[in-house]
Amino acid sequence: MEDKLNRRDFLKKASVAAVAGSTGLLVGCSIGQDTASSAPTAPAAAPAQDDSGAATQAETQQDTAAKEVNVNKNQTVEWKMVTTWPPTLPVLQEGANFIAQYVDTMSQGRLKIHVYGAGELVGALETFDAVQAGTAEMGHGASYYWAGKAPAAQFFAAVPFGMNAQQMNAWLLASDGLKLWEETYTDFGLVPFPAGNTGVQMGGWFNKEINSIADFNGLKMRIPGLGGKVIAAAGGSAELIAGGEIYTSLERGVIDATEWVGPYHDYVMGFYKVAKFYYYPGWHEPGTVLESIINRKAWDALSPDLQEVLRQAIIAQNASMLAQSDAQNNFYLQKMINEENVDLRPFPDDVMKALHGYALDVLDGVAASDPMSKKVYDSFRKFQKDVAAWGKISEKAFYNSIEVEV
Ligand code: CA
Repeated sequence: MEDKLNRRDFLKKASVAAVAGSTGLLVGCSIGQDTASSAPTAPAAAPAQDDSGAATQAETQQDTAAKEVNVNKNQTVEWKMVTTWPPTLPVLQEGANFIAQYVDTMSQGRLKIHVYGAGELVGALETFDAVQAGTAEMGHGASYYWAGKAPAAQFFAAVPFGMNAQQMNAWLLASDGLKLWEETYTDFGLVPFPAGNTGVQMGGWFNKEINSIADFNGLKMRIPGLGGKVIAAAGGSAELIAGGEIYTSLERGVIDATEWVGPYHDYVMGFYKVAKFYYYPGWHEPGTVLESIINRKAWDALSPDLQEVLRQAIIAQNASMLAQSDAQNNFYLQKMINEENVDLRPFPDDVMKALHGYALDVLDGVAASDPMSKKVYDSFRKFQKDVAAWGKISEKAFYNSIEVEV
């Protein structure tokens, strides 16, 4: 993998974006049902002045309580965070690192989180089990990796023809989404949070032209999750290939196509060197949410203020990664078109329509597979319908009005 990104520059920009992002999200943020239990304990009532004995006793108790708080505040809690990303992967692994850095600064060093990339402590796809077992107190990844354990988890990451980043954040943070996610992970003893978003992804890198839906017949594509099921329904085969092996698989013709993320992330993978066409849009991942998962016992053992520090650090990262993607994607797209002669292609309209039809069938199938999936998908669909109705006369109308100017 070739990493031409200026990492120092990226880190600097990301910090600025994180601050901007967190400021916006701190206002009016209503996440999770833990808010009440996380609120700082109210100070004890002032001792009555007309009973000196009682007052002295109360003051002593208060002093003791204050000392205990001070003792706790001087303790350093050390955690491990495991991730599903290669240790040096820009943006995604760096997102996990940022959470640890924010927490360290905001807690004044009282909560130290040591981050381990895939393979450094456990394998990428062992993240969920490791956090559940308490081998690590928290993890960073994407919930669609855990479809085999909890099918409903897929709806919290990427849904083909589902909601974009803004709409996912609205569902998760200001409606029922996060509560349903918490319910989905309850039996696993995990507390989830949205912890990053890629924005609308790209359709992927293809070595075969897509002119009609029939061109998916026999197409071998590396595409995970629900998108992969849609490709299979369209006659293709969805291949599961680890991130580090995609490039050579594409180069050697083991696969005909792969999707990854968007121009910013894709550039560093170098796929433009081994693929003929770069298709858009990423119908299969219109606003992929990344996740932080925390071991429930470890979370409950944190003091309320450290819980809040951690929660806000994660939510800040959730905004920061999306800001980074939105700020950088066009730069890297133009760079690849102008410097690497990448052939950019839209999927034809009738292909998109056909894929959408297959996607709805796939989603109905998942919803029918277990009660939790149905509960989550019902909420997702209703919210998507409502937010789309609003979006039609807000975002969409606005985009349409400025389209000629772009
Ligand atoms: Ca992807």
